[in-house]
Amino acid sequence: MAAPGPAGPDVSELSTPVHMSVPLLDLRAQHARIKDAVLAALMPVIDDQAFILGAPVAKLEADVAALSHVKHAIGCASGTDALLLALRALDIGRGDEVVTTPFTFFATAGTIHNVGATPVFVDIDPRTFNVRPELVANAVTSKTKAVMPVDLFGQIAPVEEIRRLLPTMPIIEDAAQTIGARRRIGGTWTMAGETATIGTFSFFPSKNLGGYGDGGMMVTQDDALATRLKRLRVHGGLTTYLHEEVGYNSRLDALQAAALVAKLPFLAEWSAKRRSNAAFYDAAFADLADLADVRTPYIDPENESIFNQYTLRVPRRDELKAHLAKLGIGHSVYYPLPLHLQPCFKYLGYQEGSCPESERAAHEVISLPIYPELTPAQLDEVVAGVRSFFGR
Ligand SMILES: *Cc1c(COP(=O)(O)O)cnc(C)c1O
Repeated sequence: MAAPGPAGPDVSELSTPVHMSVPLLDLRAQHARIKDAVLAALMPVIDDQAFILGAPVAKLEADVAALSHVKHAIGCASGTDALLLALRALDIGRGDEVVTTPFTFFATAGTIHNVGATPVFVDIDPRTFNVRPELVANAVTSKTKAVMPVDLFGQIAPVEEIRRLLPTMPIIEDAAQTIGARRRIGGTWTMAGETATIGTFSFFPSKNLGGYGDGGMMVTQDDALATRLKRLRVHGGLTTYLHEEVGYNSRLDALQAAALVAKLPFLAEWSAKRRSNAAFYDAAFADLADLADVRTPYIDPENESIFNQYTLRVPRRDELKAHLAKLGIGHSVYYPLPLHLQPCFKYLGYQEGSCPESERAAHEVISLPIYPELTPAQLDEVVAGVRSFFGR
């Protein structure tokens, strides 16, 4: 088993160790099925030798905008850069505060720090692992310039509730793990990123829509913000050699976009398969709740999760982890150390106990294989492996 890493850029989880009967994620199984479609999409880009932005990027932007019910989608180099550019587009920098969750992949708070602003961490709802709107609202000060909820493990955070409490506050929705996920707001289905000021996606290979390398996208309904984001990804100038501001080299490359355009038609089917795998596990582990306090994922009734991760809460997590490792069953801990306790954020002054639910979650969570290509035999093996730990 590879070392546990974030549900993000941990390349070690992407290789498929041969000794493991059920890997945490098997991208080769996915690739085997779509290889012809992807290679057919890549070849014209190579023949044209047109690798930067261009038609495939524009096509992917149009497709993701349609999927996400947004006016604008702007490709960029990664999900991390999508957050960084979103912060810059909202003029967030030195002296500003951004309220976010500590129970997330590092990039969420790393980008806030990197624009010169201060991450302000508030605790999570222990059932969904997503941020609690009332705590977000309570943490707002005169310096707060935005809030950054994260849609963790595949279900959308209560963005509309944050909006209701903070009607004029810009919301950057870190939707790296939720492209295509839905949430019912006032009876109407809304998509990940749709209701935020700026929503951000990641095409890191282990995300539900993964590229053949790094990639990201920003979505917004706002024309001015869209123009600003397009400018920021090309060194701050939309006219060649004229720079209105200092931006970045953060373009989505055409090969990634071409592969993603070929993969996008499969996304809904893949996410549905993840949901049916999750339902299978839920039923198979139901009796462990009373026996050993094992909690299967809680999905808010207003959400349709895309299950980027299937994450159990288990009080004896570390022992279960060792047991699964012995059996060769893939698993990982997302996330073992909440961001408010990371050494690099010591300067912010948080301590053990500052965000108790995030800390408790970090000790209890364990994610199991949930990818769509899992066979019935593999699903049975994971179930048997977990159950055997509890003597069932
Ligand atoms: C993956 C991820 C990111 C970063 O995306 P990259 O494309 O790897 O830069 C940011 N936030 C969350 C919550 C993620 O899961």
